[in-house]
Amino acid sequence: MNAEVRSRCMRRSRARRALSLLPLLIVGLLVWFGQFVAAGALFISVMATVMIGTLVPRCALFGPMIKQLRSGGNCTLLTIDDGPHPQHTPAILDILDEHRLKAVFFLVGERAAKHPYLVREIVARGHEIGNHTQTHPAAMFWSLQAPQLWREISGCQETLMSICPEHPPRFFRPPAGHHNMFTSLIVQALGLRMLIWSARGFDGVAQNVDLITRRIRRRLKADSIVLIHEGTPVAVEVARSVATMMAESGLECSTPPADLSFSDDEMVVERRAAP
Ligand SMILES: [Zn+2]
Repeated sequence: MNAEVRSRCMRRSRARRALSLLPLLIVGLLVWFGQFVAAGALFISVMATVMIGTLVPRCALFGPMIKQLRSGGNCTLLTIDDGPHPQHTPAILDILDEHRLKAVFFLVGERAAKHPYLVREIVARGHEIGNHTQTHPAAMFWSLQAPQLWREISGCQETLMSICPEHPPRFFRPPAGHHNMFTSLIVQALGLRMLIWSARGFDGVAQNVDLITRRIRRRLKADSIVLIHEGTPVAVEVARSVATMMAESGLECSTPPADLSFSDDEMVVERRAAP
């Protein structure tokens, strides 16, 4: 990726980190002047705000994100994370074909590099591929600094573009939905848009397919973004159950067209050509 874009992004990340330290400077001054209660209250408030902005997937404190489609239509969006998977991806593609549904597959770069034929098959069947980092460091992603985040996101972008140069990913989804104060800067610098979800069944941890489907059905409506996963013990069963439920809902389910607008939750982001 373009070195100039990267260094501009790193400069902005350093500036953002310096700004974020200002409240701690004030805490230090309050302690200096013996205002311990005020210092403690400010410290706790700042830390709580930062943790909520980082760990709550749908919190847009640190930058724009897409959380649902623009209301008024009859569309939903199905998204499938963590592939490709040598057994699950082919089975899920057949299920989607059976129900005439299209989806966005958020792929992990190193898994895509291992199974490039699956990435090409996803695209050939009319689905879209999205960026889900190069190595999927789910437990640590919230704490990564800007250079590491750049490596994860740009690395995945390069991997997927090397496999399908005609279909560069347009969307990024952070592992576990965690995104710190640097993530959106890097996502925007790479010409991507962060896409979260509005309906999930926690299939990454639960294994009861009926319960997972019921959770998604409760939140499913026009403009929903649905999340399911590959790579779990019940991935194919969940895909079959959720696809059946979505097909029967009467809502349209296709990949986002180039001009599809999203909810007002997302600030307008000018799309740049991928460097
Ligand atoms: Zn994931």
